Amino acid sequence: MTRREQVQAVLDRVDADLHRLRGVRSGVRVVDDPGHGPQLHGDGDAQADLSLDGPALDVEVARAAQDSLVEQVWTAGPLCRAHDRALRPALHEGRLVWRCVGGHVLADVGGLRPAESTW
Ligand SMILES: [Zn+2]
Repeated sequence: MTRREQVQAVLDRVDADLHRLRGVRSGVRVVDDPGHGPQLHGDGDAQADLSLDGPALDVEVARAAQDSLVEQVWTAGPLCRAHDRALRPALHEGRLVWRCVGGHVLADVGGLRPAESTW
């Protein structure tokens, strides 16, 4: 998998969750910048360090996509229904997950369900 493919795969997973919960997508896309490699472009702030490798790159991209949508809608999310706290992309046992600020892992990124989260 190329770096660009890895970034796109993470964007697809985050967008699947955002679309399921809120009916929108982050608008973040990955474009090739000759001489600099893949870069994120989006309507909101999509700053990310795409020179990271492996799982660290997954977290970086997922957070950038989330932040971009937060900036566009001016509302924190997604939220854990149990705690009414924000979820953030994180690594857990090598998997990219949504972690509740309340201190637990809710779901893999891409597998968030409206029964347990909202936005
Ligand atoms: Zn929670």
